[in-house]
Amino acid sequence: MKDPVSSVSTIRNFMANAGRNTCNEYLYEALKDADEALQSQITKKIYHERWVGINGVPYDQCPRCKTNLCTAGKLGRKKENYCGTCGQKLDWEES
Ligand SMILES: [Zn+2]
Repeated sequence: MKDPVSSVSTIRNFMANAGRNTCNEYLYEALKDADEALQSQITKKIYHERWVGINGVPYDQCPRCKTNLCTAGKLGRKKENYCGTCGQKLDWEES
């Protein structure tokens, strides 16, 4: 895959220009799927729900499906590059 960010923007520009009608319904749906699939390839920062966590330390959550990635504590899982639930590519860098 070249660059998911620019591919998504190309798809969205095309969809906006083409508009939606009965002739391109299938194409439109397919492009929406492609857009969604590409979204998961664009790295997103780990999400922290303010009120969810233990001892004031928020859980690491998937930025897309909000699944708790269970990295906290002794039995915590390792920090994977992709969410095991939705396949979102994850960015663990703290900003
Ligand atoms: Zn997820």
